[in-house]
Amino acid sequence: YGTMSVAAILAETARRHPDRTAFHIGDRTVAYGPLWQQTLAYAGALRERGVGPGDRVAVHVPNVPDFARVYYAVLSLGAVVVPVHLLFKSGEIEFVLRDSGSRLLVAAAPLLGESLPAAAAAGVPTVTVLVPDGVDVPAPRLEDEAAAATPLRTYASVNPLHPATILYTSGTTGRPKGAVSSHLALVEQVHVTLIDTCDIRADDVIFGGLPFFHTFGQSSVLNTAFRRGASVVLLPRFDPDEALAAMTRHGATIFTAVPTMYVGLVQAATRTADRPPLRFAVSGGAALPVALLEAFEATFGAPVHEGYGLTETAPTVSFNYVGERPRPGTVGRPLWGVDVEIADPWVTDRVDLLGPGELGEVVVRGHNLFKGYLGNPEASAAAVVDGWFRTGDLGTKDEDDVVTIVDRTKDMIVRSGYNVYPSEVEGTLVRHPAVAQAAVFGVPDPVRGQEVHAAVVLEPGAHATADELVGYVRDRIAAYKYPRVVHVRDALPMGGSGKILKRELVAEYAPAPA
Ligand code: ATP
Repeated sequence: YGTMSVAAILAETARRHPDRTAFHIGDRTVAYGPLWQQTLAYAGALRERGVGPGDRVAVHVPNVPDFARVYYAVLSLGAVVVPVHLLFKSGEIEFVLRDSGSRLLVAAAPLLGESLPAAAAAGVPTVTVLVPDGVDVPAPRLEDEAAAATPLRTYASVNPLHPATILYTSGTTGRPKGAVSSHLALVEQVHVTLIDTCDIRADDVIFGGLPFFHTFGQSSVLNTAFRRGASVVLLPRFDPDEALAAMTRHGATIFTAVPTMYVGLVQAATRTADRPPLRFAVSGGAALPVALLEAFEATFGAPVHEGYGLTETAPTVSFNYVGERPRPGTVGRPLWGVDVEIADPWVTDRVDLLGPGELGEVVVRGHNLFKGYLGNPEASAAAVVDGWFRTGDLGTKDEDDVVTIVDRTKDMIVRSGYNVYPSEVEGTLVRHPAVAQAAVFGVPDPVRGQEVHAAVVLEPGAHATADELVGYVRDRIAAYKYPRVVHVRDALPMGGSGKILKRELVAEYAPAPA
C-alpha cells in the first residue's frame, strides 16, 4: 500500500497558494501559508510532548483558526484527532478522554472550566489555546511551547487505512460512541465531493458555522474548502443575525448548514436587507422540511441541495448533486463509490436487501465507512453486518437511485399498531404560517402504546393556539398520524450539532410512572 494523510489537505494548498485566504474571522483574515507554518510549529510542540503516530489527542476548541492548526498538527504527526463536543460538561469530557485513551487534551482557554477537571480526573495533561491577551490561565499555552520547540518539517504520510479521527456520535439517541475513520475515508470523501457533487471553486466563500468537532462541519466545510483553497467565514457560535451579517460582509457564496440554521437564517432575513451572493446551499444532518427549503430559496435566490450522512460514513452517503435539479424531500443519489441499499429492518443477523421503492433500513457500503466503534466490538458487530453498515434510518431508493429518508427507526412512533413517521407530520406542521419549527415524537401511552405529540416554536410575533395547530394537521393527514397534543414552546432542546434532542422532549412530556 502507499501512504497518505489528511494533513496534505492543508499542506498542499498552503504550498501552492500561500496567500489565499483560508479564514475570515471578524475583521481578520488568515492566509493558507501562515496557517500551515503555525500548524507545523504546533506539531513541533506536540512532538516534544511525546505525541507520535497512532496517539490520540483530544481537541476541545470552537470554530476558530486554532481548531484547524491543532487538527492538522495532530494529523501531521500521524496521530489521531479526537474532537470533543463543545457543549460537553466535565463528566462527558472525562468519558471521551478515557474511552479514547487520549494522551493529551488541547482545550480552548474559555472552555477550561469544564475540560480541566475532566482531564485531571482522567489523568490526561492539558495544553491550552485561544488565551485572551493578558489573562492568566491554569494550563500551559501551546503557543508558548511552539515558540520554544523545533517546528515539524512536513507532515508524516501513513497507511491510508490507519485511523485519522475518532468522532463521538452526537448522542442524539443515546450514549456517544467513538467512530474511528481512516485517512482514506476522509480524503476520498473530499475528493468525491469536489469532483462530483458540489462544484466548489477556489474563489468560493463558505459559511463556517457548522461545528468542526462534528463530521458535517469537519468534512463538508473545513476539509472540502481547504482541499480546494476556498475561504471559510468562521463563526465560533451560531447566531442567525450575526451569521447573515458576516456572510454578507464577506460575500459568502455557499451556505452549508443543518435545518435549524436554515430556520434562523430565514427569520434573520426578515430583519435586514442583507443578502449574501449565494450560489447554492447545502443541507444535511436532519430532514429539511420542503416548506423550509422553499422559504430559503425564495429569500436567498439560491437552490438548496440536501444530502444525507452520518458520523460513521465521514459523512456524506447521498446528495442532490449541484448542477442537477434538486429533488426536494429526497436526499439525492449515492456518492461515487458508495453503495446504498434498503434492507429488511426486522432481520438483524444478516442483511436482506429489498427492491426499488420498498421501505426499509438504509444500509451503506463504501470507502467512506468507519473502522468500527473504538473499544466496542458488540456495537461495531451490530452496526456492520455482511459488510453493510446499518444506519438505523428508514428510507427508500427508487428506480433512479434517488434515496428518501423517512425517519430514524428509533424515532418512528407506533400508535395503536400504525406506524407514524415524525418527519411527515413535522413537514405538515411547518407549512402553517405561524410555525417556525416543529418536533414530533412518541410519548408512552397505556392504551395506544405511544401517542403522537408535537412541540412547536412559533415565528416571532405570530400567534396560534395548540388546538388550532392540532386541527390544522388533522385536516391534512390521516387520522392516526396527527398530533393529539401540541406543546407551544419558546425553544426546542438542541444538541451542539444543531439537532433537536427528541429524547429530552419525550422525557419532559412522558407521564410520570404510576
Ligand atoms: P447519535 O448517533 O449519537 O444518536 P446522531 O444520529 O444525530 O447521534 P450523526 O452522525 O450526527 O449522529 O447523524 C446521523 C443521523 O442524522 C442519520 O442517521 C439520520 O438520522 C440523520 N440525518 C442526516 N442527514 C439527514 C437528512 N438529510 N434527512 C434526514 N435525516 C438525516
